[in-house]
Amino acid sequence: MNMRVAVCIVCTEESDEGVMAVCLRCGEWYHLNPYATRPGRDCGIATLGDEETGIDYVCNTCIEEVRIEMAQAQRRQNLIAKAEAEAKADAERTAPTAPPARTTSTPPRRRFRRIDQ
Ligand SMILES: [Zn+2]
Ligand SMILES: [Zn+2]
Repeated sequence: MNMRVAVCIVCTEESDEGVMAVCLRCGEWYHLNPYATRPGRDCGIATLGDEETGIDYVCNTCIEEVRIEMAQAQRRQNLIAKAEAEAKADAERTAPTAPPARTTSTPPRRRFRRIDQ
């Protein structure tokens, strides 16, 4: 049996390709224990994707990258949401539909005092 060996992108250790998988994201080999009943090394995951892709193979390195990207995207989203909320608050503050309650009543009329002398 011709054993092919690959280097894991995550832990950099060589192993038989039979206990490894290729990451769909970076295209590198990583440890993925194919036996549920036997102990083995897992340097990534295999998850059920959508119907087209079947199973998603993702190494731990890419999982971490995805996690960071998602965190950054979330942070960007939060900033955008915050900016939008502030812009909305600004717009509401200056909106013509909400006129400022002005209490400047007409100034009292000046009475002419006649001086009869
Ligand atoms: Zn590994
Ligand atoms: Zn990867």
